[in-house]
Amino acid sequence: MKIAVLSGKGGTGKTTVSSNLSISLKNSVILDCDVEEPNSHIFLKPDITETISIKTEYPEVDADKCNLCGKCGDFCNFNAIIPTKKNVLVFAETCHACGGCQLVCPTNAIEYQKREIGKIYTGKTIYGNTLSYGELNLGEMSGIGIIEGLFEGAKDEELVIVDAPPGTACSTVAAVENVDYAIIVTEPTPFGVSDMKMVVEMLREMKIPFGLIINKAGLGDNEIYEYSEEENIEILMEIPFEEEIAKLYSEGIPFSTKKPEYKEEFINVYENIKSKF
Ligand code: SF4
Ligand code: SF4
Repeated sequence: MKIAVLSGKGGTGKTTVSSNLSISLKNSVILDCDVEEPNSHIFLKPDITETISIKTEYPEVDADKCNLCGKCGDFCNFNAIIPTKKNVLVFAETCHACGGCQLVCPTNAIEYQKREIGKIYTGKTIYGNTLSYGELNLGEMSGIGIIEGLFEGAKDEELVIVDAPPGTACSTVAAVENVDYAIIVTEPTPFGVSDMKMVVEMLREMKIPFGLIINKAGLGDNEIYEYSEEENIEILMEIPFEEEIAKLYSEGIPFSTKKPEYKEEFINVYENIKSKF
């Protein structure tokens, strides 16, 4: 089973939930797909034993063969290859490696080269489970190749917790499209509710079942409770707005390791999700 943990925006407690959930479930593997800002490793402190370089392709034009016909530029939807009157400009960072420009080139002037877009790190955490996290190189536009690499590496695992990128970007879609269930983490504030509505729409569109974990419960107002009742969204768990939990977070310690009653709650969340299948 694959369970994604996501949120409408960063900083709502998504990694707190995915880290605590994963270490509460024996033999689970956690994939940190928030490749622009991975931070599960800060909480889970893995001993990295494997590093994989993730590469993508980009076109290189042989000026001697190119007749500047412009067909490659007409084909590319991403403005990653732009023929001018003198030469063909290639913007490797925006290329989506679709292969189309090579197909339409009438003079076989295009060959593909490889370049690294980021890395995947894997290791056992100090809590005994396995963490793989991706890190997108600075300046890169898309981490989807890294997210695909993370899922490929975990394809034989039975229980996978996915820390998805926040919001509803392409990378979020890539991180949740193959999961069985999604947990939205939100805060009980008007901003929290407004940000999560887009995520709710996205998951409904993708036909992925989901429930809610409310972080910092007791901090704000009742809007989240009214919204979830109106929309028939199950609240799976509430994490109280508590000084001790905040302090453990600031020290990079998953709070369920010091407050074992919450480990039970995370196990119950999983059992509840499992019972739906
Ligand atoms: S491979 Fe696709 S995305 Fe990249 S430059 Fe060629 S047409 Fe554009
Ligand atoms: S399609 Fe080929 S020949 Fe035409 S401009 Fe592009 S690289 Fe040059």
